[in-house]
Amino acid sequence: MEFETVCGLEVHTELLTKTKVFCSCEAAFGGEPNTRCCEVCCGMPGALPTVNARVVELAVRCGLALNCEITRYNKFDRKNYFYPDLPKAYQISQLYLPICKNGFVEINDSVNGKKKKIRIHEIHIEEDAGKLIHQNGKSLVNYNRAGVPLLEIVSEPDLSNGTEAAEYTKKLREILLLCGISDCKMQEGSLRADVNVSVREKGSAALGKRTEMKNLSSFAAIKAAVDNEAKRQLSVIGNGGSVIQETRRFDEKTQASLPMRSKEEAMDYKYFPEPDIPPLVISGEFIGSVKASMPELPDEKRARYVSLGLTPYDAELICSDLKLIALFEKTLEITDAPKETANWLLGEVTVLLKCGEVEAEKLGEIINLLLDGKITRDSAKRTLEACVKEGAEPLAFIKENALEIVNDLSLVGDIAERIISENPKAVSEYKEGKEKALNFLVGQCMRELRGKATADSVRKAILEII
Ligand code: ADP
Ligand code: MG
Ligand code: ZN
Repeated sequence: MEFETVCGLEVHTELLTKTKVFCSCEAAFGGEPNTRCCEVCCGMPGALPTVNARVVELAVRCGLALNCEITRYNKFDRKNYFYPDLPKAYQISQLYLPICKNGFVEINDSVNGKKKKIRIHEIHIEEDAGKLIHQNGKSLVNYNRAGVPLLEIVSEPDLSNGTEAAEYTKKLREILLLCGISDCKMQEGSLRADVNVSVREKGSAALGKRTEMKNLSSFAAIKAAVDNEAKRQLSVIGNGGSVIQETRRFDEKTQASLPMRSKEEAMDYKYFPEPDIPPLVISGEFIGSVKASMPELPDEKRARYVSLGLTPYDAELICSDLKLIALFEKTLEITDAPKETANWLLGEVTVLLKCGEVEAEKLGEIINLLLDGKITRDSAKRTLEACVKEGAEPLAFIKENALEIVNDLSLVGDIAERIISENPKAVSEYKEGKEKALNFLVGQCMRELRGKATADSVRKAILEII
């Protein structure tokens, strides 16, 4: 019998809001433990939640970006469970009427390379829990994260392997990032995925029993969790056993999963409508205004970059980083050379960004000077480095260091003359047909000229003489 893997993802993303979802405590990552808390997010009796309007806006934006229908009449529900990181002993979520549903994301099919639609079942709003820290035989709790707004994006089981699951998550990340919905810092937990995996006879319509692995926080872990879990299930079946529905823990070190607990059912959570929050009605006007404020989506942006002459690979690299996108677009306001700019961004600039800010104005100016033949590529690199590390101004730095290409042909000629007379061996080697000997002579001249002439004019001068 031939088997296939079936996978669906529940992706949690923390929203880029100033404040929490039901109170006005600060929502940013970190902070002194338990300083970003109030009676609402800590669940004091009688404290009442209020829905953060910005959360609703970002949820609608996410729904539109993922091709969803927006639910106009929304309600919140209580999901009850007892765990010390949840101060209210329930999480406010949306079970019956999620804010967005029936969307899709396109990824590349891992088998035939064509576009494949991964359907989105729903997106709902919920609140994050606090954090438990276990140390020295004690458990400490930090409620700063309790009540931080989350969107949970639930896919249909349309993914066929770990590669597709990782690519789907990458796609989501790019969309969330470019739409300003989340900072998607996976190492800080602001984007994490629960992975559901089952196997079934190839071509069968029925779904197999699935297991779930929670809170995976890297693309590599997502890919390995899916593929290794499918393998494990196949071997269980191959040995005559059957897969049991359960939650498993994926261990990054061993790249394998271990049983954790039997899967809880909706019934276990005793869901009921949240009585403290009135229904939330979203107007067509509001949806229209969110639509009007939507930024360019990653697929559109990539296609536009490719139409400017970038390779799909370069376009993808730039689109995965907000800083590079901003630099690219701003630099193009100054210089009219997209491909050259992209090369700088993915080479020199990526290195220099580790040392300081790279200003688009200066980068654009330097690229213009280079393309106008005013400075050599080496001088251009030196200049940018000085701009980033020492705050230099391009023109002033070039003047001070006499980097302008003079193309003063008499100077080039004089130096070529001298280098030729000092290196008779190289000259005769060249005359015997050794191309390398000419490069050596050019190099010697360039060193003397210290970037004041182009290699082309030096080569010409040497050839004229010999
Ligand atoms: P729950 O909320 O209890 O985890 P859902 O039915 O909402 O369960 O499904 C959660 C996720 O699991 C969805 O992304 C869905 O696509 C996926 N899923 C459901 N059944 C299967 C299955 N048999 N194999 C793989 N994934 C599945
Ligand atoms: Mg689940
Ligand atoms: Zn609070």
